[in-house]
Amino acid sequence: MNNIIEKLSALFEQLPGVGPRQAKRFVYALIDKNDNFVKNLSSLVLELKTKINRCSLCFYTFTGSDTASEKCSFCENLNRDKNILMVVQKEIDLENIEKSKCHNGKYFVLGGAISLLKPEAIKNIRMRELFYRVKNDAYLKELTIAMNADKEGEATVLYIEKIMEPFIKSRELKVTRFGKGLQSGAEIEYADIDTLQNAFLNRR
Ligand SMILES: [Zn+2]
Repeated sequence: MNNIIEKLSALFEQLPGVGPRQAKRFVYALIDKNDNFVKNLSSLVLELKTKINRCSLCFYTFTGSDTASEKCSFCENLNRDKNILMVVQKEIDLENIEKSKCHNGKYFVLGGAISLLKPEAIKNIRMRELFYRVKNDAYLKELTIAMNADKEGEATVLYIEKIMEPFIKSRELKVTRFGKGLQSGAEIEYADIDTLQNAFLNRR
């Protein structure tokens, strides 16, 4: 692969939801953009890696003027309910749930769901970190799991319920499923405000 167009297309293809044709479209669109656009894009992409922090508690990524800060605003906010922790697959899901204002507790970003095709990829999501978070969080009374209403989401919920078993007994931790209120196949990222509010109210 020696052509710059091919090389850049191959990079775009590694982004979620981008196929080979879309990747090529991006490259040709960039060729037509002015110098300023391209300079801006490349410097912002570089900044992403230097100015974005990942919260040490919930793993949400955030931009901070203070790069030394280790915790995001959700974890730092004393007005949020520390008795309830919501597990989400990814940042975009968290942001959509925030828009619906249904949940005023804390979050945990798992970083994905269990893949049925690649079960070994479970090591790429933060199950161990979730276990330790719950284990060390003395305030926690309810863990609510907000996964997409698909097979991967269901497998992830079952797995979390299983690893939480010791806490359910010893600490009377309640584990609820947010997904009961979602229609089959629904994705948290695209769910509307009413759907999310219902899913939260009907969690069990
Ligand atoms: Zn956080």
